[in-house]
Amino acid sequence: MKVLKKGNYKLQAWSLKVECTGNGWANNNRPCHSILELEDGDIVKRKYQGYGDSCPSTGYGFICSECHCFTEIDESLIPKEIKNYCPQVAAKGSDYYSELTDEEKKLSEVL
Ligand SMILES: [Zn+2]
Repeated sequence: MKVLKKGNYKLQAWSLKVECTGNGWANNNRPCHSILELEDGDIVKRKYQGYGDSCPSTGYGFICSECHCFTEIDESLIPKEIKNYCPQVAAKGSDYYSELTDEEKKLSEVL
């Protein structure tokens, strides 16, 4: 490939201070309430469909490095680029587990 004009797009460094609360998904873990600083690579998404919902929704959050609990965070706090490219996680045996890539399944192992 020949580069005619080099672009200068670069994702801004992003971080967010959060608490591990286990909000948004009861995945049978006890949240440890650590205070954490997230970076772009820490964000994961998960799909869910509530009773009576006609289509699945997507929630964004992180898996705590201390207790492996998933905590959902307000998606308006996460840049769009990160939401577009973050990996998806799902609990083993759930409807969406089969959609995951091998790498995403590995990420989901701790859930
Ligand atoms: Zn935790």
